[in-house]
Amino acid sequence: MVEAIGRCMICRGRCFNHVWLCQSCYDQFPELQGKYTTWPDWARFLKNQHKSERLQENAVLENEIEFPVDLADLLDVIDDGQDDDE
Ligand SMILES: [Zn+2]
Repeated sequence: MVEAIGRCMICRGRCFNHVWLCQSCYDQFPELQGKYTTWPDWARFLKNQHKSERLQENAVLENEIEFPVDLADLLDVIDDGQDDDE
C-alpha cells in the first residue's frame, strides 16, 4: 500500500515523487512556492515526516519483491509435511 510515494504531503493527492505538493496545494500555499529553506516550520516538519514515510515505503516495496521467493520456500516445507502422511 503506497500512501506517501507520489503523494502530496498535505492532502495526499497525487503528485510527482520529486516534489512534496500537488498542484492545488502548491497554489493554495504561496508560502511554499519558494525554496524549502524559506518554508514555515510546520511545512518543514510535515515534509520531514513525509520524507521518512516515503523511505519506509521504499523499504517495504523492496521487501515485497523478495517476498514471493520466501513464500515459495515456506509452502514447500508445509507440503513436504503433508506428503509424508499419505
Ligand atoms: Zn495537495
